[in-house]
Amino acid sequence: MPNPALYDMNLADLEALLRDWGQPAFRARQIYRQLYVNLVHDPALMTDLPSRLRERLATETTFDALRRVRTQEADGGTTRKAIFALPDGAVIETVLMIYPDRATVCVSTQAGCAMGCVFCATGKRGLLRNLSTGEMVEQVLWASRELRHWQDAGSGLQDADDRRDDGTRWWADAPIPVRQISRVSNIVFMGMGEPLANYDRWWAAVQRLHDPQGFNMGARSMTVSTVGLADGIRRLAHEGLPINLAISLHAPDDALRSALVPINEHFPLADLLAATREYTALTGRRVSFEYVLLQGRNDHPHQALALAKLLRGHTAEGADRGVPLLCHVNLIPWNPVPGSPLGRSEHLRVAAFQQVLLDYGVACTVRVERGGEIAAACGQLAGGHAA
Ligand code: SF4
Repeated sequence: MPNPALYDMNLADLEALLRDWGQPAFRARQIYRQLYVNLVHDPALMTDLPSRLRERLATETTFDALRRVRTQEADGGTTRKAIFALPDGAVIETVLMIYPDRATVCVSTQAGCAMGCVFCATGKRGLLRNLSTGEMVEQVLWASRELRHWQDAGSGLQDADDRRDDGTRWWADAPIPVRQISRVSNIVFMGMGEPLANYDRWWAAVQRLHDPQGFNMGARSMTVSTVGLADGIRRLAHEGLPINLAISLHAPDDALRSALVPINEHFPLADLLAATREYTALTGRRVSFEYVLLQGRNDHPHQALALAKLLRGHTAEGADRGVPLLCHVNLIPWNPVPGSPLGRSEHLRVAAFQQVLLDYGVACTVRVERGGEIAAACGQLAGGHAA
């Protein structure tokens, strides 16, 4: 039997383990605090614990399941992609993005993905396996420690991870003043994989990261992106935590959407939009629709108009005709994937597409790009193996 993975345990699980070891419950809370508040991932550094307990943790549990293979950086070091190897050899990627006012971590939920979206590097690899709850949680803790290096840089603290191959420090070129951001402020489940296809483990990760006794991330600071699993959206509508929902739409009609996003065959637009309406009605929360713009495929003005009508409830697909969806559209100029025949929409086409939506009364923005040069942008994550 392998050692139990600490990051797979919630506080109750940890208390049960410590009870089996004959330890009082407060020891579990100490460990939990070390893991999620102090971000300690080495039992030897948990100096508030008795030495025998530290030894037992080291020999009878597993701390890090993720082994960092390498870190790549872009945008002056403020976009940082970590490539992790899992114990069974699967590879995943996590991206930390530091902005003047916030720091966001993009988390993978599966190794590979079964959804097969034609514009996505991850989809080309197929699904290797679902990630465990702990493997998702660990990605956020890595980002938090990475950000802490950033903060410590301002006080002269040093760490081997700060150094590039040429000996300079990654934060030295950053366009953002050091020490402005002190903790990860947003978590987006938009990395490799389809979160709602790994629902139970993913939701346990959300709950763990939200736990006020631990990492204490606000629910409204977390966002899940789905390619449109209508049954998962309906399930999410009934959860207690108000996390944000983003839905990858990418086409205004079923024929084109099925060509770009094969899962549309199972959850066509009418079903997807009905589920979305149920979600907004139950939660009162606005959803984001993501729309990757592909030159000449889905970026024509008439397609923008069709999309606007769809979301305003002016087409047959809407369950409530004439009632606008509570939504916002996020346009994403496609990020190139090696070997793909698809093209990225030119700037003027993006602007024209956006204007059609705005003129029709649909809130719409264009996503600020990050990490394209290190294949860390949307749709580019492929575990270093983009086909
Ligand atoms: S876009 Fe998302 S759902 Fe589609 S293949 Fe890529 S990772 Fe999977």
